Amino acid sequence: MAEKITMGPDGKLVVPDEPVIPFIEGDGTGVDIWPAARRVLDAAVAKHGRRIAWKEVLAGEKAYKQTGDWLPQATLDAFREHLIGIKGPLTTPVGGGFRSLNVALRQILDLYVCLRPVRWFKGVPSPVKRPELVDMVIFRENTEDIYAGLEVEQGTPEAKRLIELLHDELGWDIRPDSGVGIKPVSETGSKRLVRAAIAYAVAHGRKSVTLVHKGNIQKFTEGAFRKWGYEVVRDEFADVAVAWDDCGGQPGDRVLVKDNIADITLQQVLTRPDEFDVIATTNLNGDYLSDALAAQVGGIGIAPGANINYVTGHGIFEATHGTAPKYAGLDKVNPGSVLLSGVLMLEHIGWQEAADDIVRALEATIADRVVTYDFARQMQGATEVRTSEFATAIIERL
Ligand code: NAP
Repeated sequence: MAEKITMGPDGKLVVPDEPVIPFIEGDGTGVDIWPAARRVLDAAVAKHGRRIAWKEVLAGEKAYKQTGDWLPQATLDAFREHLIGIKGPLTTPVGGGFRSLNVALRQILDLYVCLRPVRWFKGVPSPVKRPELVDMVIFRENTEDIYAGLEVEQGTPEAKRLIELLHDELGWDIRPDSGVGIKPVSETGSKRLVRAAIAYAVAHGRKSVTLVHKGNIQKFTEGAFRKWGYEVVRDEFADVAVAWDDCGGQPGDRVLVKDNIADITLQQVLTRPDEFDVIATTNLNGDYLSDALAAQVGGIGIAPGANINYVTGHGIFEATHGTAPKYAGLDKVNPGSVLLSGVLMLEHIGWQEAADDIVRALEATIADRVVTYDFARQMQGATEVRTSEFATAIIERL
């Protein structure tokens, strides 16, 4: 019987054998990749005697056409009620009153962690020599920082007022023809993000958590993120994790928590990727890092992602690429990103065996050089298949 996922009294998800999971098909290539991914997910969970009761909810162009609303209340209610959901890519409506539908969903449900696992799948074309050394999980703060959209446009009365206020109250000289952005980084926002990252590292047997920041320059935002991060380790995880300074880099069997400046990190993830494991970082740093890392493993078309609130239990798993409109409906693009987001979702709800099966089958498919156009153009001797055929090939190898 189809039932809702709920939150247990211990703060853990309670998942029935047939959970109701809302999904947004997505705009553009969503019509190609979502049905393909869904077939693979269904086949994998069925192998383990389970079933997902998918519930379609609308957002983006499909919602606008059917309801006149880009993000209907019913969709928000469904995600709120069922806790866990998944989505394809969405068009950013121009003049729709939203900065982006994705951002709106994250803000409304307070999904404070942007989770981006980055690893290499054998056979995937990569621009680096040792892509197999990349196996990182990025926890990117999702609700604040300069990225949260608090900015005023150059030349507007608001910009003029803000520049005057900053001059009069704080003595700051800002050029009058500037646009101005505000970068809030709070103790609450930083600590809950780092808490989630350390808890994840402990639960998944990861060796280290690196706090990535620009605290050398932005002392009271990025620097404070680092300071608060170390407070979380010492105050809340002393039995299972330890700060670098408290152990001289020798954590024993505890998770080592260290920190690194963002610009150096972008070099070192290239030159010494095996020194990074879980990464916890502020919003903008995380944006750059997750895409740079995805590129290293050839994964722009297959990188999965999720937005999670570990306290309320809400999580939306999503394709990280956009709608690629020129390919919409052509049954051509790679369904890997939304499929691996589904895998991440299965892991998150504790259905690890089904998740592992899909990863193995995907690896076997790529190893057989059966791939969509994006990989085929970079591989020798590849058999290029359609989106739907790629899904079938994975199912055959499950
Ligand atoms: P995009 O849709 O990500 O497409 C850029 C390029 O990435 C494509 O031309 C294609 O490259 C490659 N690509 C994307 N998806 C792929 C897939 N499934 N398989 C293989 N290759 C894939 O970015 P965009 O064109 O800048 O954005 C289009 C729309 O998407 C905009 O409305 C944007 O706002 C929205 N968007 C939504 C999200 C989201 O919902 N999470 C994220 C980003 C953008 P090649 O042509 O070189 O093969």
